[in-house]
Amino acid sequence: MMSMTNFSRTLAIYFFGTMAEQIHTSYYKTKIGELIIGSFDDKLCLLDFRYRRMRATVDNRIKKHLDGEFIEQDDETIRETKKQIDEYLQGERKVFNIPLLLLGTDFQKQVWEELLRVAYGETASYSDLAKRIGNPSAVRAVASANGANAIALIVPCHRIIESNGGLGGFGGGIAVKKRLLNLERKNSELTDEEKYNFIGQRSTKYNHRFVTAVKTTGIYCLPSCSARKPKFENVIFYDSKEEAIKNGYRACKVCKP
Ligand SMILES: [Zn+2]
Repeated sequence: MMSMTNFSRTLAIYFFGTMAEQIHTSYYKTKIGELIIGSFDDKLCLLDFRYRRMRATVDNRIKKHLDGEFIEQDDETIRETKKQIDEYLQGERKVFNIPLLLLGTDFQKQVWEELLRVAYGETASYSDLAKRIGNPSAVRAVASANGANAIALIVPCHRIIESNGGLGGFGGGIAVKKRLLNLERKNSELTDEEKYNFIGQRSTKYNHRFVTAVKTTGIYCLPSCSARKPKFENVIFYDSKEEAIKNGYRACKVCKP
């Protein structure tokens, strides 16, 4: 972690007191709230909501891992991060391109690496993630690692929702989570044919995007429903379950949307 040799470090401590590493930080106001951005060694180690719950816990974890202190200072990594966040929030960027420094336990890092595989416009459930890391019973631990994520937006914890399509929690607040999911949905529209081809696969990755209403039964389902696939001519896709209910449809007893 230290670039100095032990000897010069010892000398430095002798002359200047304890030498903590410097973690550059910068605050950034955006339309989804004020963010704190941190970089170390030309890598992004922090991108989070300034006023989230657990702010001190996350900050202390980072300082402890790096044996460092926060110092408010912009640098190239921070400037590039701000630029890419702006582009993302304007719907002009779907993939981030910034070197990351994930700081946590091996288990937390495993969860965050898996989060990085959940693509723009898609979602996964906490139990999907637990299965993907080969630990299907660790749903609660996965949810907790998800909540401890220090690199919001880029390590996309906002794409993790409950199996029944419910939003679950978010450090930046549920309203912001909903807004981010809607932004991504708007910028990666699916046609009715694509939606129809998708249902029946039992995948949860589009559970926040649409519900399938079946004209012949009056029932609406999540895209992940395991019930028999209806005929294409009998389905109507709605953006939300509220819309399906408004049009007279009842919730499926199999997938319980
Ligand atoms: Zn169903």
